[in-house]
Amino acid sequence: MIYDVAVIGGGPSGTIAARYAAMHGAKVALFEEHSSIGFPVECTGLLSTKALQECDISPDTSFVINTVRGAYVHAPDGTCIPIDGRNTRAYVVLRKVFDRKLATMAADAGVDIFLKSHVHNLAYENGLNTIHVTQKGLQVKFKSKVVIAADGPRSEISRIVGIPKPDRLLPGIQFEVKMKP
Ligand SMILES: Cc1cc2nc3c(=O)[nH]c(=O)nc-3n(C[C@H](O)[C@H](O)[C@H](O)COP(=O)(O)OP(=O)(O)OC[C@H]3O[C@@H](n4cnc5c(N)ncnc54)[C@H](O)[C@@H]3O)c2cc1C
Repeated sequence: MIYDVAVIGGGPSGTIAARYAAMHGAKVALFEEHSSIGFPVECTGLLSTKALQECDISPDTSFVINTVRGAYVHAPDGTCIPIDGRNTRAYVVLRKVFDRKLATMAADAGVDIFLKSHVHNLAYENGLNTIHVTQKGLQVKFKSKVVIAADGPRSEISRIVGIPKPDRLLPGIQFEVKMKP
């Protein structure tokens, strides 16, 4: 089968892009290398209210476990600046459940989701992309008119198609700390 759109990566970018393409009438395939969506989790799960609005997802209790309306900013000298946003500004989500909800929405829109499907090469000729996939140990080829590389910050696909790495990376550090209630 020739797909209109092939999406590589079943994270939020991939599932949302796939859903919107399918909603607009495209025949879409999504390839995810893991055996399930939403695993492994590499996220704290803090999402702005705007992010959910933009993705057209209602913040239901299946994945929202807390709301955030402000923050205490602690400076190294011990100064604490409280910021009260008054209204809910962000949600704390269970990323695994959130990602699976997005994938379900994509599947409901008609996206064919292939798990255990690692895309290891791409070729383009005569107006069509050939997507080389290792699927459950087998080498399989798919055809599509358009490819969306949504394979995350360490994108293998951008390297394959020759997109240069970003000039500058902004690293961040995350800590898990115990707080006094
Ligand atoms: C420690 C940490 C904490 C974070 N906390 C937050 C936070 O609080 N709030 C927030 O908004 N963001 C947070 N982020 C960032 C957030 O996780 C990413 O921005 C988000 O996951 C990017 O989504 P994505 O769909 O672009 O990529 P990803 O979520 O990385 O999804 C890419 C998918 O592509 C698949 N894939 C990769 N290569 C292939 C291939 N060749 N073939 C098939 N499949 C492939 C991967 O398995 C993966 O499922 C955090 C990140 C980290 C590391």
